Order: sequence, then structure tokens, then C-alpha cells
Amino acid sequence: MTKKPMYEGKAKQVFATENPDELLVYFKDDATAFNGEKKGTIGNKGVFNNKISTFFFNLLSEKGIPHHFIKMLNDREMLVKKLAILPIEVVVRNIAAGSLAKRIGWEEGRKLPSTVVELYYKDDALGDPLINQYHIKALGLATPEQVEIIEKYALQINEVLSAFLKEKKIELIDFKLEFGVHKGEVILGDEISPDTCRFWDSETSQKLDKDRFRRDLGNVEEAYQEVLYRLTGRRN
Ligand code: ADP
Ligand code: UDP
Repeated sequence: MTKKPMYEGKAKQVFATENPDELLVYFKDDATAFNGEKKGTIGNKGVFNNKISTFFFNLLSEKGIPHHFIKMLNDREMLVKKLAILPIEVVVRNIAAGSLAKRIGWEEGRKLPSTVVELYYKDDALGDPLINQYHIKALGLATPEQVEIIEKYALQINEVLSAFLKEKKIELIDFKLEFGVHKGEVILGDEISPDTCRFWDSETSQKLDKDRFRRDLGNVEEAYQEVLYRLTGRRN
């Protein structure tokens, strides 16, 4: 497959393919946190995130939730539908953690009585600020109908992933999604991985996600591998 570099982000590289409707995504081991201030690498992260994302996209297919994933090409690459990404990061939260715990003054780990959906403006230079539907409308980031669809899918995805992960003894604390438009339809894009979700062991509350890197907790690679293992029964 001929591939032409199109974009290099913090965690992935995106390539154009011969097919104008499809892109190739390469998952890197690079890790960043705090809006790029902290930089490092996590051994084999690219392989784990490619495989974990593949697993979750396949799970969403079974539940009829539309997404960009077409197929895994190799350990680090997947083929996806090309999207016009909406510059909105959608965060779904079941348990207070991270920036929400700080913002509302709750201790991390306290269960939210109802699910919280947040929207952030995807703009690195601005540090991805929290926004709402009015900002989105005023800035023309998406239509009100698109926001409605995004929130509906985000809540459905939360139900599917939370229920599945519970059986694997993983608590889905919160996660971030990105959506885009493909042939006029809003569908899920990007990745679903320990980079973009908070996963806690149900019994020990051990963190199995990027917080191990953000907070220098050690055993970062092992945590990503453990998530892959619980999902697939495979360690690589
Ligand atoms: P960032 O851009 O935040 O550093 P990544 O390193 O993950 O993030 O880069 C991947 C980029 O590809 C992101 O900007 C993401 O919005 C974009 N992207 C993800 N899926 C698709 C898709 N199907 N079509 C087009 N762009 C996509
Ligand atoms: N998240 C992400 N990318 C971002 C910001 C957040 O994937 O640019 C994910 C993060 O991994 C967590 C959830 O979104 O699962 C909520 O993150 P939070 O707002 O608490 O951010 P923090 O400041 O703690 O990273």
C-alpha cells in the first residue's frame, strides 16, 4: 500500500492512501501530558493502543454504533475512513477524576450520581478549553444536530464499554472521544485506549491507564499490556 504522510500528531501519524476515502493511522510509542509539557515514550504503547482500539471498535460494530475503523493492518497500523474531524473533544465521566475532580472540588474516585458529558474545544494552542453548545454554535464548530448526535453516541458508547469492562474487572472512570463527518454522516473517529480512557481495576482501584505516565506511578507499559490481556487474553 502506498502511503503519503498527511499529519503527525502527538500519539499517531496519519497517512493518505490510494483511496481518497481512507486513511492509514500509525500508533507511536510517544506519550505527552499536560498539553505537551511532559514528554516521553511508553514501550510498545503503539502496539497496545492499536490492538485495544481495534478491539473496542469491533465491539461497537456489534452494537451498531458507527465508527471509522475498517481493519487492522499490522501491529501498529489500522485503516480507517477519512473524516472531517469536528474540533470537539467529548468527555464522558462516571466517576470524578482528573480535571473534573479539581474543578468541582470532589475527591478522585467519588461516583457521580449521574453520567457527565463535557465538550472541549480541540485546540492545542488554547489548551483544549471546556465549552458548551452555545460556544459550539457561536464558533460554528458543529451544528446543534451534530452535537445532539455526538452526545447520543457518547452515552451509548459509555453503556457498551462500561458493561463490557465490568466483566473484565475494569471500572470505566472516564474517557474522551472524537467524532467526524464521513459522506455526510457523523461517526466516531480517533482511538479508544488507555491514552484516552481512565481504567481502574475493579477490586484494587489500581490505575491501568495513562495516569501512570502523567503521575509517574511506574509500570506504565505493564498497565497497557494488562488492559490488552483482559480484553483479548493476549499479551501482545
Ligand atoms: P493530536 O492531533 O491531538 O496530537 P494524535 O497524535 O492522536 O493527536 O493524531 C491523530 C490525529 O488524527 C488527531 O488530530 C485526530 O483528530 C485525527 N483523526 C483521527 N481519526 C481520523 C480520521 N478518521 N480522519 C481524519 N483524521 C482523524
Ligand atoms: N483525555 C484525552 N485527551 C485530552 C484530554 C483528556 O484523552 O486531551 C481523556 C483523559 O485520558 C481522561 C478523560 O479524557 O480519560 C478526562 O480527562 P480530564 O479532563 O480529567 O483531563 P486530565 O487533565 O486529567 O488529563
